[in-house]
Amino acid sequence: MIPVTKPFLPTQDEYQAYLNGIWSRNWLTNNGPLVNELELKLKEYLGVNHLLYLGNGTIAIQIAIKALELRGEIITTPFSYVATTSSIVWEGCSPVFVDIDENTFNIDPKKIELAITANTSAILATHCFGNPCDIAAIDEIARKHSLKVIFDGAHSFGTSYENKSVFEYGDITTTSFHATKLFHTIEGGAVFTTKPDILKKMAFMRNFGHDGPEKFNGIGINGKNSEFHAAMGLVNLRYMDEIFAVRKRQFLYYDKILKNLRVRKQKLNKDIVYNYAYYPIVFESEELALSSLRELEINGIGVRRYFYPSLSSLDYTDGHTPVSDSISSRILCIPIYHTLSQEEQDMIARLLLRTQNN
Ligand SMILES: *Cc1c(COP(=O)(O)O)cnc(C)c1O
Repeated sequence: MIPVTKPFLPTQDEYQAYLNGIWSRNWLTNNGPLVNELELKLKEYLGVNHLLYLGNGTIAIQIAIKALELRGEIITTPFSYVATTSSIVWEGCSPVFVDIDENTFNIDPKKIELAITANTSAILATHCFGNPCDIAAIDEIARKHSLKVIFDGAHSFGTSYENKSVFEYGDITTTSFHATKLFHTIEGGAVFTTKPDILKKMAFMRNFGHDGPEKFNGIGINGKNSEFHAAMGLVNLRYMDEIFAVRKRQFLYYDKILKNLRVRKQKLNKDIVYNYAYYPIVFESEELALSSLRELEINGIGVRRYFYPSLSSLDYTDGHTPVSDSISSRILCIPIYHTLSQEEQDMIARLLLRTQNN
């Protein structure tokens, strides 16, 4: 069985070394020394000014929306993981979908202005599959209409835009360190901002609003993460250069062996550094996508219709997003993970080509 993705695991010895420290300190959670160390190491590794390590990538979006005091309508993408949209609804705001660009799979900035109303408070856009959005265009629209900007960077670990970490853009960028992501801490996430006042507010929000043991600064929630999760992050971070290198090699190998497959690839934005996190392919028709999916599944290979359905089909939203609906029905993400072998990639390519030629 070849799954669509497989979490990276370091050696058990390396993780155990951190556990020994946790046992001797008896400090398991509540912003302990390993959480602090992970935040410092991540800042260094990513070259960012500020970040807060959180329980997961969904609470990160929820805290971002709360911290910016968003109300009313939030313009967002229908082509993302469900958490991007459901967090908007969870926070009592209304998602307004703007269709995606058919080449980049990211929200189409040309269509954003048409969707802005007197009730619009923000734009929440996902850097889909790690391909940075057209950030310059989104920022310009946001400035012109006094809107806040949140980027969902759950796929974007290690990417950059115009020579800066993609996490440094928008009022806030969020990310996920879930086990299936390129860099993970089992469960985990983070918020990034370059604005010290917003950072401070989110730091209170992460810990129930606690300002010392007996004082509170605003309403908070439990957004913290534990020493055990931070330990996994600290060990995994040591492997990131190797993980990026292997992922790139696997990605380029797929490009080579699938060059005769009649599918469309995601077009990457200009002036970026990419992380090769996923391998999405868009078929000419939904039938071809589904017959390929079946053929791979029969042969024990996991594929995901990622992202299907388009979020505009959720029953708590509406929106006219034909491009997203169409790509969503025809896209598959094929396996790509650290221990995937070239032989396995060859087998996947053979099955895809055979299905196409049948
Ligand atoms: C994974 C993911 C999330 C949610 O992250 P969790 O850590 O699982 O809560 C949000 N948005 C996108 C685009 C994701 O892929």
